[in-house]
Amino acid sequence: MTETSSLHIAVIGAGPGGYAAAFLAADLGMKVTLIDPEANPGGVCLYRGCIPSKALLHVAKLIEESKHAKNWGVEFAEPKIDIARLRGFKENVVNKLTGGTGQIAKLRKVEYIQGRAAFENSTTLKVSKTDGSSQSLGFDKIVIATGSRPAVIPALKLNTPRMMDSTGALNLEDVPKTLLVVGGGYIGLELGTVYAALGSKVSVVEMTAGLLPGADRDLVLPLYKRMEKIFDSIMLNTTVTGVKEETNGIRVSFSGPEVKEPEKLFDKVLVSVGRKPNSEIPGLENTQVKIGQRGFVQVNKQLQSDDPAIYAIGDVVGEPMLAHKASHEGRTAVEAIAGHKVAFEPNAIPAVVFTDPEIAWAGLTETQAQKEGRTVKVAKFPWGASGRAVTLDRTEGMTKLIIDPETERVLGVGIVGSGAGELIAEGVLAIEMAALAKDIALTIHPHPTLSETVMESAEVFFGTSTHVYRPKR
Ligand SMILES: Cc1cc2nc3c(=O)[nH]c(=O)nc-3n(C[C@H](O)[C@H](O)[C@H](O)COP(=O)(O)OP(=O)(O)OC[C@H]3O[C@@H](n4cnc5c(N)ncnc54)[C@H](O)[C@@H]3O)c2cc1C
Repeated sequence: MTETSSLHIAVIGAGPGGYAAAFLAADLGMKVTLIDPEANPGGVCLYRGCIPSKALLHVAKLIEESKHAKNWGVEFAEPKIDIARLRGFKENVVNKLTGGTGQIAKLRKVEYIQGRAAFENSTTLKVSKTDGSSQSLGFDKIVIATGSRPAVIPALKLNTPRMMDSTGALNLEDVPKTLLVVGGGYIGLELGTVYAALGSKVSVVEMTAGLLPGADRDLVLPLYKRMEKIFDSIMLNTTVTGVKEETNGIRVSFSGPEVKEPEKLFDKVLVSVGRKPNSEIPGLENTQVKIGQRGFVQVNKQLQSDDPAIYAIGDVVGEPMLAHKASHEGRTAVEAIAGHKVAFEPNAIPAVVFTDPEIAWAGLTETQAQKEGRTVKVAKFPWGASGRAVTLDRTEGMTKLIIDPETERVLGVGIVGSGAGELIAEGVLAIEMAALAKDIALTIHPHPTLSETVMESAEVFFGTSTHVYRPKR
């Protein structure tokens, strides 16, 4: 094992991957330098991704619930949106968390340099600081954690504040009367949900046949039904062919078999068509690092690149581009540097779409099983049979298990419904611990909670769910 206290490592990029790596390296006794242009560690996730979007989605959910409350005999007045205060709330959340990571970095004695790093060679970085100065620094090992940025479609590039990417949308400059979201992936749907709740008429255009391509269709269906109500329109199988700025907005042209209006004017357009890895780090050509297809840095299971001194983690090494994947990779890379016998080989990386209802899945999906021609059994528990879902008046959800018919091992879990993002953690644990459907069915879950739907979906597998009656054949 390497003597870690003698190691000096640099981490380029202080997102959830980079700062998790830096903090663990410090805990293991290494000397650590963390470099990022922001004032504090946080990266995309804390500054302009997961955290601000979830703060706004929380408010959006409150607005929607307040409207719905009249069905329960409680009527609230129309919400008045104070956009400056809402922006302030979101900024406070970001400042609190990034201030916290800054403090923790100091406590751990991580040297934090506000600036950008370029490679001079495999172990030397040139760091250009935000204060204008620059310096060359040598390290034993370097971890690339430079993350990703919104993908840009050249045909949709217009230099106007009316065209936004996710960062612009999170800035919350105003509430446009009409907003077009280009891309039916999770970022577009989450931000579309926020703007719809604030009062925008939101339209979504997606070039494939369904929202959230990649997610199981039966999970997407309840969300689709809800989105049809909160959005002005959802255009599937439709491509945006051009955008043009006019005095009153952006004129967008569409093409596709289902197009009703080939052109429409929108106050603002949010383009969220995926993300690109930040692998064009200056001087990377001076190292042996190789960039693979789609621009991702190539790494092995220890997250080591083709250059033995350089590791890479997070969005810059590949899908799924998610914060928790980045953090786990960061910690694995550092352990590998420390000489521990480790590999990044998860059985399940959960994915959560924080819309309302939420969608969450982990492990094998039914769609993936079908694609791979793999025989699986699927057990579904409808939330209409969940006492807790009924008390919440949210019965549109569903919990499903993907089970190996031979071993009865749980291979995948999918959930759609309120709070699915919290519930999926049990599924991840089940998959990682190689739980059998019986293990879940025999685990006593608290009543009345939505977590019971996980237990009862396992009971459905055995045909013995307490709250689902299946007539004997
Ligand atoms: C709107 C939105 C919502 C999201 N919601 C979620 C969610 O709910 N859950 C989830 O898991 N994921 C979510 N994500 C994705 C998540 O933000 C990313 O997966 C995650 O931030 C990746 O972490 P990372 O450490 O790889 O890099 P990043 O967070 O991208 O951080 C990389 C950092 O490196 C810096 N950097 C780049 N080049 C250099 C250089 N040369 N020198 C120094 N620093 C450099 C960048 O400025 C950045 O600060 C969301 C993303 C967006 C945009």
